[in-house]
Amino acid sequence: MSASPFILGIDLGTTNSLVGVVDSGFPILLADESGSRITPSAVNYVADGQVLVGGAALRKRSLDPQRTVTSVKRLIGRRPGEGDWQPPYHLRQLGTTPVQVSAEILRRLKAIAERALEQPVSRAVITVPAYFNDAQRNATKQAGELAGLTVERIVSEPTAAALAYGLDKLGEHQKIAVYDLGGGTFDISILEMREGVFQVLSTAGDTQLGGDDIDRALAAHLAPAGTDPAVFLEVAEAAKKRLSSGETTRVELPFYDGKNSLSVELSRETFEKLIRPLIERTKSHCLRALSDAGLSPDQLDEVILVGGSTRIPLVRRFVAKLFGREPNISQNPDEAVAMGAVIQAGILSGSLRHVLLLDVTPLSLGIETFGGLMNIIIPRNSTIPCKAGEMFTNAVVGQKDMLIRVLQGERELAKDNWELGRIVVPFPPGPKGSARVGVQFTIDANGILQVLARDTATGQDTVLEIQNTAVDVDDERVEQMIAESVEHAFEDMNERVWTEAKLKAEELLPAVETALAQFGDAVSEDERGLIQASAADVQRLLVAEPHDANALKKATAVLDDATQELAVRLVERAVEESLSRRGIT
Ligand code: AMP
Repeated sequence: MSASPFILGIDLGTTNSLVGVVDSGFPILLADESGSRITPSAVNYVADGQVLVGGAALRKRSLDPQRTVTSVKRLIGRRPGEGDWQPPYHLRQLGTTPVQVSAEILRRLKAIAERALEQPVSRAVITVPAYFNDAQRNATKQAGELAGLTVERIVSEPTAAALAYGLDKLGEHQKIAVYDLGGGTFDISILEMREGVFQVLSTAGDTQLGGDDIDRALAAHLAPAGTDPAVFLEVAEAAKKRLSSGETTRVELPFYDGKNSLSVELSRETFEKLIRPLIERTKSHCLRALSDAGLSPDQLDEVILVGGSTRIPLVRRFVAKLFGREPNISQNPDEAVAMGAVIQAGILSGSLRHVLLLDVTPLSLGIETFGGLMNIIIPRNSTIPCKAGEMFTNAVVGQKDMLIRVLQGERELAKDNWELGRIVVPFPPGPKGSARVGVQFTIDANGILQVLARDTATGQDTVLEIQNTAVDVDDERVEQMIAESVEHAFEDMNERVWTEAKLKAEELLPAVETALAQFGDAVSEDERGLIQASAADVQRLLVAEPHDANALKKATAVLDDATQELAVRLVERAVEESLSRRGIT
């Protein structure tokens, strides 16, 4: 049997576990034979030696609690410093260990994957909480090996979540908070991207806080006096989930004790009042994690949500307020860790090689400058996010503003490129070259281009934001633009040389004329003749058809050379005059 190319990504959770794989370049989660992608982390040791895992084991829990193991991860993963946690079952009596129970869950996940992929799989990436120490990571690895899996890597859950949210593309030194509120545990982690990988700066949390506590609080609220709240746990959880989308819900449990029935209307408001104290308990952990990382909330670049309980609107509002920013909710919170494990597995197996490639700008971005030329600020194929800028000045005396046309494309002339937008930067009129306008282009990780123009004299900023067009360009249009730029490369270049030479000539000619008129006596007859002939040459070439860019450039250079002497004398004369005016000579 040839080795399978697949490496599984596994989220081995306290309450639920998930498995997935990168298939044909896509990370996917795999479903069991009944179509479920979530396997409860429950194991039931049937008396005859058979082992049930997942939903089947959970259904046995109330009938056979002594032989059913849930939340085994807590036994492997006690947070350092936390007191002993009493398991509600007797592993030793069952003749098993936490590692063996975890192995049963992993064996089940492996079987789900093999059934879905129709081939044996033997390698996996498994996630663990960020605070797991070496012994706990090793225990998890051992469980994988017992289940017949080579554990290629153990990945921290917040890191996996960040990968699933695509935050690896944010770039160096970006800081991320991962707020993870699941069924039974709460974790907060602060990550920083360093040299292309996430580092966990700090973690905090509570291994006894999660959706189960919310269910218990609601069940206690629903239970009529004198009844066992546990009876209402299931309807409480279902009602809780409905209130994540609806404003009110009816909770019904007929004949909960054989004769009485429950039927009440529950509003989100009442629910929120009830659970607020539980949610508030996450606050101190968040503050501690931030302080351990030496950060304030405004230094974070993203806050992401993980765990099913973060679907609760109150949790989202609470997080937004605590961190002073809207959390990123672009991924399924209960699948993010598993998806990240799958992505990591895909990278290791080589089937997702491109996922870490940063986005690039498909075409150059720039602005139009004097003479209608394209001035590139961010060249094509620059990795994003990126930032670049340049200084510009006024070309005309008394100019009151500058029109900045933001362009995209590979052609030398502005008119052949695409205009993405324009801004007008006002400045106080003055001599030519007196204005100083800094233009800065910033493309963020989402491909949004921000153009900032600053009049450095007044500090006045003008900002233009361009959504996505900077990065999201149809492949076909990109190809066409590049093909055109190649096709027209020669004439385009000629046009650019011509425009530049023309600008220079048009600047030089009147200056030479003025100088000759004022200080013509300062040069010899020969020199004067040479200057006039060169100037005539330039003038002729300026109007000659067809344009001869190179000839004009040469003639302008000759004129420039010929006037060097004149220029030096002009300066000398000016200095002399100024000195004598002040009575120094
Ligand atoms: P996890 O550990 O990420 O699988 O989270 C499981 C917890 O999320 C359980 O307590 C669920 O009741 C809770 N949960 C799942 N979906 C929702 C929802 N839509 N609204 C509120 N809680 C939910």
